[in-house]
Amino acid sequence: GVSVFDDSYPAVSRLDGTLLTALRSAAVVARTGGVTFVVNSGWRSRAYQQYLLDQAVITYGSLPEARRWVATPATSPHVSGKAIDLGGTGAADWLDRFGATYGLCQIYQNEPWHFEFRAQATMRGCPPSYPDPTHDPRMR
Ligand SMILES: [Zn+2]
Repeated sequence: GVSVFDDSYPAVSRLDGTLLTALRSAAVVARTGGVTFVVNSGWRSRAYQQYLLDQAVITYGSLPEARRWVATPATSPHVSGKAIDLGGTGAADWLDRFGATYGLCQIYQNEPWHFEFRAQATMRGCPPSYPDPTHDPRMR
């Protein structure tokens, strides 16, 4: 149950400042509606990202299949502090409805919990999401 306000966790404190500011602004408003954001994953070290990828290869049986779910340390927006995976009852639904106002966008259809900051979303709404990370040009 880690909060987006808890700087004692590197997963939170090492997030990109723009993403973190947007998250905290949204979290304050969401909480007035009874929705609390829970940080399931934020910033990750390269070593931890590699561990997650290795585990995914075991789980999904091959590297290409694993990469539909887990990026490499070189490409993961979690390693650069530009992505957050949120839990908490209603959090993903709340962000789906109101997140664009804060620049917070769902990026992958197969990961409804994964959000990144997109500056243009505050004006034009979030860009279309990708079916999964293998469709994201940044992952190539
Ligand atoms: Zn993620």
